[in-house]
Amino acid sequence: MARPYNFSAGPAAMPVEVLEIAAREMLDWHGTGMGVMEMSHRGKAFGEIAAQAEADLRELLAVPSHFKILFMQGGGLAENAIVPMNLSRGGVVDFVVTGGWSQNSLKEAGRYAQTHLAASNADSRHTTLPAPASWQLSPDAQYVHICSNETIHGVEFQALPDLKALGSDAPLVVDFSSHVASRPVDWSRVGLAFGGAQKNLGPAGLTLVVVREDLLGHALPICPSAFNYKTVADNASMYNTPPTYAIYIAGLTFQWLKRQGGVAAMEARNIAKARLLYDFLDQSPFYENRVAPDCRSRMNVPFFLKDESRNEAFLAGAQARGLLQLKGHKSVGGMRASLYNAIPIEGVQALVDYLRDFEKEMA
Ligand code: PMP
Repeated sequence: MARPYNFSAGPAAMPVEVLEIAAREMLDWHGTGMGVMEMSHRGKAFGEIAAQAEADLRELLAVPSHFKILFMQGGGLAENAIVPMNLSRGGVVDFVVTGGWSQNSLKEAGRYAQTHLAASNADSRHTTLPAPASWQLSPDAQYVHICSNETIHGVEFQALPDLKALGSDAPLVVDFSSHVASRPVDWSRVGLAFGGAQKNLGPAGLTLVVVREDLLGHALPICPSAFNYKTVADNASMYNTPPTYAIYIAGLTFQWLKRQGGVAAMEARNIAKARLLYDFLDQSPFYENRVAPDCRSRMNVPFFLKDESRNEAFLAGAQARGLLQLKGHKSVGGMRASLYNAIPIEGVQALVDYLRDFEKEMA
């Protein structure tokens, strides 16, 4: 039986193949007599799983060798504190606010560092992106933080800013939680990138950090040892017990991504998926997306029924058709369709068919 299409913003739909492999291996991983949840993180079997996951991710995202890949815990919100504790060195840190998540990051960092708002799109209600040339960067910033895809507001940087070209030597810190592995990353522009796994990589509980080696070793004394990037890196992400099962599932997802043709192939599919939905919304008098076309996220598409009194009926009808979790974030309202890697184009077509039918039905 076909499964419903799940448009959740996260935790989100997983590739069915990954879930099937995990189900088969639940009681006995590769003849070890144990499931992955039951293994010591220091044993040979889990060591192989973690090393393979890291190698596959490095290959998929083309992470250069002078970056460490860390498997941590705490999610994006914990990183909002962990990053300034590791990178701020008691100085100023710059923030570009483009939506709810970067706003959160700015607020949390203020507990550990002196923050500076370099740019904001608040006056467009987070529907545009401020051009990098207009950013007011601090001359001595320890880093510049951006959220490269705003999950709630649906704006996405189509290219990472080149801070050097803006006259800044500060490392760029990128929250890529909600579009990691949906498109390639230009690591020459990045100092550190972090993301929770629960959208595009695997289950909640795993946080990915990719950090340039020269940024390690400068943590504030208050930084907990388990959150000190250098400690985590020196111990190959096993200083404390890592989220072993989540790493295993993410590893299966990385192998699935490789079978799909890798990140470049995913990007091509994600472009096609996003175009299908935005093109439909744009031609319809019944629905609207309020984000400036060149800033629109391929992953998270917030949209509205122009007559919001139909919202309940819309969601009930969607559910009945097997189109799940389309309700928008409470701070924005309306609807949101998240089109992560695990959503096939057939799922987006099913959504567009429903949007068209619902519009006709209400005419
Ligand atoms: N950043 C972004 C871009 C997110 O989408 C989210 C979660 N939706 C977070 C940070 C927070 O992540 P977590 O809930 O895992 O702490």
